[in-house]
Amino acid sequence: MIELRQVKKVYNSSTPALDGVSLEIERGEFLFLVGHSGAGKSTLIKLIFSEIKPSSGQISFMGSNMAAFKAGELLKHRRRIGMVFQDYRLLKQKTVFENVAFALEVLGEPPKKIQKKVPAALEKVGLAAKHNSFPSELSGGEQQRVGIARAIVKDPLVILADEPTGNVDPNNSWQLMELFKAINDGGTTVVIATHAWDMVDRMQKRVIALEKGRLVRDELRGSYCHEN
Ligand code: ADP
Repeated sequence: MIELRQVKKVYNSSTPALDGVSLEIERGEFLFLVGHSGAGKSTLIKLIFSEIKPSSGQISFMGSNMAAFKAGELLKHRRRIGMVFQDYRLLKQKTVFENVAFALEVLGEPPKKIQKKVPAALEKVGLAAKHNSFPSELSGGEQQRVGIARAIVKDPLVILADEPTGNVDPNNSWQLMELFKAINDGGTTVVIATHAWDMVDRMQKRVIALEKGRLVRDELRGSYCHEN
């Protein structure tokens, strides 16, 4: 479904952020991206979302070379991907319902569809009762559930989550992981960049390890490998 071939990304320094990464992600997979800070995890996620372009190499999505995407195809591509961020990125002035609805409004979806899909997404993340709350009235774990509802309301093919439990306590982090697992069980591909080695170990899913921009490990039922 997603294929990277010898992908290199150089920002403005001479050291590449990603250096010759080749990788294939199948539809329906659950995959962790691990590695120290600066290893290239966020860069890889941004490349798949097509927020940034590779300096060399090729990325294909569903068999199409992403470098050849025209503007319309790029929009279509981003619709198929749900993004989840460490800092949630919720709109403070909007309620829980409005935050999730906004993801569909910007796609030009009709109000009738929005009225139907938003409660369903909030139900899935266990926040139906809080639809009228503002983000400031929610815990970190709850805010991230809104972030996840906003990602899944588009019925994406892929969820890309960058340190989704980074600001959440361990108990709530585990519940978020269970939620990602349930989403994946429904057929959505899930890619999570994380430092949370205990969770990676417990989940027993595919683990890709990056080190200084290079892919150093790819295990089907991996652990974080916390040798130090
Ligand atoms: P990780 O997510 O694993 O912490 P990143 O992908 O954020 O790693 O960063 C990989 C490398 O690229 C780091 O050396 C980082 O400083 C550099 N980098 C990331 N984003 C930018 C940017 N926008 N401009 C310049 N350098 C960047």
